[in-house]
Amino acid sequence: MVIVTEFGCLVHEYVERCSGLVFPRPNECPQCRVADTLIGHGFYERKALSPTQVYVLRIKRWYCTACQRTVSLLPSFLLRFRHYLLDVIQSVVILRFEDSASWAQVARRCAVAGAPSSRTIHRWCDSLAEHASVWWAAVQQTLAQQDAASPLLDPLGKSAGPRDAPRALLQATLHLLAWAKTQWSALADYGLADRFRFLWHWGAGRGLGRLV
Ligand SMILES: [Zn+2]
Repeated sequence: MVIVTEFGCLVHEYVERCSGLVFPRPNECPQCRVADTLIGHGFYERKALSPTQVYVLRIKRWYCTACQRTVSLLPSFLLRFRHYLLDVIQSVVILRFEDSASWAQVARRCAVAGAPSSRTIHRWCDSLAEHASVWWAAVQQTLAQQDAASPLLDPLGKSAGPRDAPRALLQATLHLLAWAKTQWSALADYGLADRFRFLWHWGAGRGLGRLV
């Protein structure tokens, strides 16, 4: 299991400062919910890709002495099961779903010398399309609970079915971020370019599962 964690730094800073980073220990095990059972369990290595670089990161791991399972702290600039940095994936899905770019345009803007491959780009978009409606519904529900009078809810109306779900989700995330910034000062620096990372951190903490 992973806990998506905001370290407040970019990937190269995470790599460079790794020994100086603070890895927050959860108060309770996210799996068995028993308190004060997590002990340090070292690190594992994983790669993170940009179109031009390969980063090797050390991922902090905790071990629960109650349920004997491990939990690791995944930096919020990474998704589970995806090698590429979340920023790269964000650029692709925004171009494709929000700007309605063609596949060729997406590749031209986001890929360098064929990385990521067009196959990978397609796979990300398919995956977001598959999961977006669940995430969108959760965002809408939170917004409705927080601000029932918001005129910005459901900007695509009834057309926001599965076909438009990725676009609707990207839009709704802007509203969620705008609201969240009024609640948590830690989000003060978050802007448009951080919305996917914010969404991932927010939704993973609510157990929404896979995003892309
Ligand atoms: Zn446990």
